[in-house]
Amino acid sequence: KTFAGLGVCEELVEACKSLGWETPSKIQAEAIPYALQGRDVIGLAQTGSGKTGAFALPILQALLQKPQPFFACVLSPTRELAIQISEQLEALGSGIGVKCSVLVGGVDMMQQAISLAKRPHIVVATPGRLLDHLSNTKGFSLRALKYLVLDEADRLLNMDFERAIDDILKDIPKERRTYLFSATMTKKVSKLQRACLRDPLKIEA
Ligand code: AMP
Repeated sequence: KTFAGLGVCEELVEACKSLGWETPSKIQAEAIPYALQGRDVIGLAQTGSGKTGAFALPILQALLQKPQPFFACVLSPTRELAIQISEQLEALGSGIGVKCSVLVGGVDMMQQAISLAKRPHIVVATPGRLLDHLSNTKGFSLRALKYLVLDEADRLLNMDFERAIDDILKDIPKERRTYLFSATMTKKVSKLQRACLRDPLKIEA
């Protein structure tokens, strides 16, 4: 299988090549064609499976077709993972001029607010800090959001982000695509899945 064969556009196939990604990983090969058809996807996958590419490529391809600020939001349980995700998004999106903001704790709110004022295409955030900005940063909203990613959903829920995620869901459009990735399918994850995803396709790495 090739990325082009999965329906990935030429610009992004080139971006994959420049990162040394020649062949899609299993989760990418299974998720990307459905995601490109506009389906919600649940991926049971660990770090190292290529799950970031599995959600990044469909989002970047949709963004390329209709660029807008605050197009997608990725929720991550930790700041380290959030930074890794934004690095992959920016590496894949560098040829198409994608701007990301990372909103995590332990970093100055003002500095992040300045980055939000530049109207990035994608926000990668831990739930608590995202909620802080939604409540306190003037002019910032996710009312135009098209894509939501819940990455490492089992860890998001273990870290007691349930309340924050509920509050975030109230502030974003119901009409959107949602991708959920998790290493395990716990009761809490399936509850979150039922609340957030519409007729999702389930894939195992
Ligand atoms: P992830 O599981 O998304 O954290 O990705 C783990 C690592 O695999 C990252 O360093 C990616 O750059 C790399 N990677 C993702 N997809 C591919 C691919 N199709 N071919 C080679 N490397 C990849």
